[in-house]
Amino acid sequence: MNNSTAAFPTTELRPLNGTTELAVAEATAQPGSRPQKVSCVLNAIFATIGEERVTLAVVRQLPCGTREWLLQQAAQYFYPDVRWFESHCTHCGHPYDLSLNLADAASYQPESDVLQVEVETSLGMRSFFIPNGAHEEAFAKAGPIGDPRRRFAALCGLSEQAEKEAMQFDEDDIVHIDHAIEAASPDVSVETTMTCPFCGKSTTARIDPLLFAFPHEGTILQETHLIAMAYGWPHDQILGLKVRHRSALAAMIARDYRQTRRPTSWKTL
Ligand SMILES: [Zn+2]
Repeated sequence: MNNSTAAFPTTELRPLNGTTELAVAEATAQPGSRPQKVSCVLNAIFATIGEERVTLAVVRQLPCGTREWLLQQAAQYFYPDVRWFESHCTHCGHPYDLSLNLADAASYQPESDVLQVEVETSLGMRSFFIPNGAHEEAFAKAGPIGDPRRRFAALCGLSEQAEKEAMQFDEDDIVHIDHAIEAASPDVSVETTMTCPFCGKSTTARIDPLLFAFPHEGTILQETHLIAMAYGWPHDQILGLKVRHRSALAAMIARDYRQTRRPTSWKTL
């Protein structure tokens, strides 16, 4: 995959220490829609995207497909290896295991990097933005109401009457707008299709890195607490450690506690 285009830009990650981890964990744990969480995770983990310094405003302006690709890149930061997942057959409901390496996810790169498309409609020539994070957030905020294609036509239309026109477009207009936006949008697969080992039918599993690939606040705070208790270091200093150093120190401290407290009622840390 060419990852130096605007669709799949070059990136620079923030240092993998407790401060970054905690920011990512807070982003995934916060209330809000999935697009809002994705914006916060990308903002927490990337220092630069396409050589631009990352802010929430920057990640909200990225096309949806680019954001999903970046989320997969971020997930590999924490889970670089193949992982096994359990899913359920969409036909017979039987659980099955599948392996997936996010690095192998298929991607689609449009022929040219454009931020908007023009479509000939029954109302005349109209322009639409390629849906980005801000559009995704607005779409999620409104909830599942109406035809999603018309809602994106309203959100992404450049016309001053975009919202009104989105309801006036006929079905052919909506199909053409949808196709034009799709053809110009980068995309990355979040689904994997396989044959169900039980009923033999083709089934699709949707893998969302946001649900499994990022650190949990509880683990980070537990490790920080152990080191603070044992060494008396301030939390900021502990969070500045490399993640593997912090985890290794916490594991050694926990092991020492277990050894010194045996055979009393010390519970496993
Ligand atoms: Zn099945």
